[in-house]
Amino acid sequence: MEAANDPACGFPLQNLPYCVFAGDDGRPRVGAGIGKSVLDLRQCKGAGLLEGLPTAIQAACEARTLNMLMGCAAEDNGALRGRLMDLLGAEADEATRDAVSSALTPMEAAVLLKPVESANYTDFYASIHHATRVGRLFRPENPLLPNYKHVPIGYHGRASSLVVSGTAVRRPRGQTKPTEPGGVPSFGPTRFLDYEVEAGLYVAKGNRLGEPIGIDRAGSHIFGISLLNDWSARDIQSWENQPLGPFLGKSFATSVSPWVVPMAALAPFRVPAQGRPPKDPKPLGYLWDGADQSAGAIDLTVEAWLLTAALRAAGLAPHRLSRANLRELWWTPAQLVAHHASNGCNLLPGDLLATGTVSGREDATAGCLLELTCGGEQPILLENGETRSGLEDGDEVILRGFCRREGLPEITLGECRGMVAAAI
Ligand code: MN
Repeated sequence: MEAANDPACGFPLQNLPYCVFAGDDGRPRVGAGIGKSVLDLRQCKGAGLLEGLPTAIQAACEARTLNMLMGCAAEDNGALRGRLMDLLGAEADEATRDAVSSALTPMEAAVLLKPVESANYTDFYASIHHATRVGRLFRPENPLLPNYKHVPIGYHGRASSLVVSGTAVRRPRGQTKPTEPGGVPSFGPTRFLDYEVEAGLYVAKGNRLGEPIGIDRAGSHIFGISLLNDWSARDIQSWENQPLGPFLGKSFATSVSPWVVPMAALAPFRVPAQGRPPKDPKPLGYLWDGADQSAGAIDLTVEAWLLTAALRAAGLAPHRLSRANLRELWWTPAQLVAHHASNGCNLLPGDLLATGTVSGREDATAGCLLELTCGGEQPILLENGETRSGLEDGDEVILRGFCRREGLPEITLGECRGMVAAAI
């Protein structure tokens, strides 16, 4: 517990991210991260530590995923978070401390499971820098499509292949374009496997079918945030992409981090939405809210690291591929939610909305190899002399995310890891 007081630990009392972990009996249990431990919320409930809280939220603490928690009313979730802070805080009496201590498991010993069963997964394209850099590869003279600054672009991803951090990702096979004009396409393991650094937003209470969510309320429909790696097979993607967008080049796997950081933990790190140059179009009314513009973005750093088999074998540290910040996204989380529901599409508790690749203006901030290598043309050089244009078997991609500001304890999103396994 003392570890939580270290301002750099990432899991202070102000964070309390939720997770699902395997209990001693093997059953999935809802937990909360504190210091270097996981607090077992099922055990807390059993010990009477949650008494007085609404029945629904107590039941959600005994569930096998975070879905029920996400479907509870915002004020009930606020009450639970308040109770956990009281239980773990310095003011707790001795009996409480004893009961809490027995519900703690060392984080390094805990097996963290997939936290949410998302019925739906949507991937957006919220970074204008990513869109511009990728667009430049195909349309150097006109990189950004004319709709970009008006409509949040996204596609419906595949929920069934969401996997938790640590799950190996099998190199997919797929169809790629003929090597010469008029030739025959080929089918086989992708030759350009890539990752995408993203943040995932989990929907809290949803909306009824046919009833949009107003932009002024959209932020309150987000439960929490996590890291997400949108694995991408670029050669498959580029061949299948026209005209309906991403399909099998994306749906083979998407990794999510085990921790879900509640939006309440990020409140001190909310910042103004990225300023738009005065001559740029103002978004339409359903996407425009003064409060969202002044405090709707998040000052959250995301990084991608690469640990190759050779680096691992030599005991060397992972190579940092990029570092970017969510505050540079063109669209805020609330705008993504409001847009998604603007046609009446019903969002469900636990649905996952990803930001799209988080890239900044500078080249070292590019959140995928497609950008970092200029479409695979300029391989990156690692410290041990290896080069990469696409990921190789045995490569592990590690995403990290954190909020850091002078005078505040660090809030971590933890890690999202995935190693590439050879194609079958
Ligand atoms: Mn993506």
